[in-house]
Amino acid sequence: MAGSLQWDEVEKSVKESKRRSGGANRFYLSDGESAEIRLIGVGHGEPHIYKRHYDAKTGAYLVCAEDKAKEGEHEGCVACAVAKGLRGKTARLKSPQRVYGLSVFDPRKYHYVEKKPKGEQYQTCTDDESCRYCNRDMERKINGVRHWTLADNLIMQLRMFEHDTLGKKCAKCDNGKIKVLRYQCPVCEEELEPDDPTEDVRCISCEKELKKKPVLRRAKEIVSCRNCGPKGRRVTLANAWIEVSRSGQRAQTTWNFNVGDVEPFNPDPFIKEFPDAFKGGVEPIDFANHPDFEPLSAAQMAALLDVDNPFGGKSRKKSDDDDDEDDDEDIKPRGKKKRAADDDDDDDDDPPAKKKKKPADDDDDDDNIFD
Ligand SMILES: [Zn+2]
Ligand SMILES: [Zn+2]
Ligand SMILES: [Zn+2]
Ligand SMILES: [Zn+2]
Repeated sequence: MAGSLQWDEVEKSVKESKRRSGGANRFYLSDGESAEIRLIGVGHGEPHIYKRHYDAKTGAYLVCAEDKAKEGEHEGCVACAVAKGLRGKTARLKSPQRVYGLSVFDPRKYHYVEKKPKGEQYQTCTDDESCRYCNRDMERKINGVRHWTLADNLIMQLRMFEHDTLGKKCAKCDNGKIKVLRYQCPVCEEELEPDDPTEDVRCISCEKELKKKPVLRRAKEIVSCRNCGPKGRRVTLANAWIEVSRSGQRAQTTWNFNVGDVEPFNPDPFIKEFPDAFKGGVEPIDFANHPDFEPLSAAQMAALLDVDNPFGGKSRKKSDDDDDEDDDEDIKPRGKKKRAADDDDDDDDDPPAKKKKKPADDDDDDDNIFD
C-alpha cells in the first residue's frame, strides 16, 4: 500500500543501517589509541570481501545490493541508483567501495560508568592497578570479538606488514629467519620468476588454465628457515598478536602495525574471566551468513536515504524465505527532516554480542589473508 513514510520508520532504518555498519560491534581505536589484537578469522575465509556505500548525509554505511540484484536475489540497489542519478551534482553518495571484513579479537576491557548528564558511559579499563573503576570494584567487560572493515589501502598495508615484517620470521622455531628459495605456479607447480611475488603472475606452461580463473593467482613460495630448514614457515596474521595503533582522524588517519607475541591464540583465560561474553566460545564472525553484512531491502534503503524507491511500487514477489519485515511496502518519504546520525567515528560504546558458530582456530596454517 502506498503511504507516507513514518518518522519512526526512518529512525528505525537509520538505526538498522548503523547497526549493520557496525556501530555496536565494530573494532574501534580513537586517535592515539592502540591495542594488541588477534585476527581470528584469517585462515578461515577472511577477509570477507563486500561492497558498501557511504551516505554523507546520514553517516550511514549501506551494504551494496547490486551483486545480489544481478543474481535475482534483491530488487535493486537504491544507493547505486541514487549515486548514478546524482553524480556530478552532489557528493552525497558515491559508487560502492570494495571493502574487507576481518574478525578481530580485542582483549581490551571497559566499564560502564554512571555519569551525571548522560547516563551510562563507556570507560576504558587501564587493566592495571591504576584503573579507578577496578579500584572501586566495578564490573568490567571485554570488547571480545569485533568486526573491522578495511578499505583497499589499509588492507594492502596490513598485507605488506604481514609479508615484509611478520613473515620474515619463522613460526616453527624461535625467530629463525625465513628466506624464499623459489616461486612456483600455484596450479601446475612450474617454477616461476615473478618480478614481484606479491603481484599476479602468469604461468607459461599452464596459461590456459589460469585464463579460466577470474583472477590470476599469486605465485606460491617455497621457503626455508635458517634454523629449521624446509620445515620453516612464515609467521602470518593468523599466528601472532598484532599491535595496531591509530593516529589522526578521517582522511588524516595513519595506522601502524607491530609484531606482538608469536604464539597460537589461546582464548581460555578470557573465557574464564568473562564466561558470559563467550558462551559460544571465541569464534570468528560468520560474515557470509550475518544479517549485518546483508544489504537492506530496497524499501529500507529508500527510507534511509529519504528518496523514492525506484524499485518499489507493486509489492515484490515473495520468492523465498526472505522475511524481512517491511520489504513490500511502497514507501514515499515526506519531506521530513531526519536527524543526521551522529558521526559513527566516535563512540563505539556497546558491549560485544555473542557470535555464531563456526570452526574456531587455530592450527598454525600459513594462510595469507589474500588466499
Ligand atoms: Zn549499490
Ligand atoms: Zn578497570
Ligand atoms: Zn624455523
Ligand atoms: Zn602453471
